[in-house]
Amino acid sequence: MQCYVFFGIQGSGKGTQAKFLSERTGFQHVNIGDLLREQVALDTELGNEVSRIIEVGDLVSDDVIYKLIGDSFCPGCKGVVFDGFPRNIAQAEFLMEHFEVKRVFFLNLDQEKAIARISSRRVCSSCGLNYNLVSDVPSKKGVCDDCGGKLVVRDDDKPAAIARRFKKFYKRTFALRDFFETRGLLSEVDASMGIEEVSAAINAIVDSISSN
Ligand SMILES: [Zn+2]
Repeated sequence: MQCYVFFGIQGSGKGTQAKFLSERTGFQHVNIGDLLREQVALDTELGNEVSRIIEVGDLVSDDVIYKLIGDSFCPGCKGVVFDGFPRNIAQAEFLMEHFEVKRVFFLNLDQEKAIARISSRRVCSSCGLNYNLVSDVPSKKGVCDDCGGKLVVRDDDKPAAIARRFKKFYKRTFALRDFFETRGLLSEVDASMGIEEVSAAINAIVDSISSN
């Protein structure tokens, strides 16, 4: 089965771009984070295992990930756009073995810009509704439109937490980037551009592969 792969730090727009490409190609969008959350919410046997693993702070094993992926394909699936997979070299090797990898997109965003994007996020401290001071502005500053609760910055979205995440992300991602670059499959896209421009850059690359 053919596939595309997306990498990128939080704030790079990776999920949005994976969704766009999935709509454009008719390939199924497979987001590993969503698959994991879905299993937990459905309270399946696998979901219980996943919550136990997450509770003790371990990463979900490669085998669990492979099973989730295998179970996620719709009947007649033409291809897949992976989002959040692979996360390590063993998973990348599995991918190469089981899929025809068309292209791996690395949406590159520097830390400063990611912090600027993420730090505009706010969440309601009483109902949990999300806001964005740039794109999803509350009608009254600092107050939830829905319940009147106070809007706060999530701990995870504070600059120190973002910097920590960056360090972890890049440590993991550099090895994967090399892996796919060596195989001639990597395209790095500047994610500091607007959503439309990033999407156009990705489409141009996809079209140049298809016409070869
Ligand atoms: Zn609220």
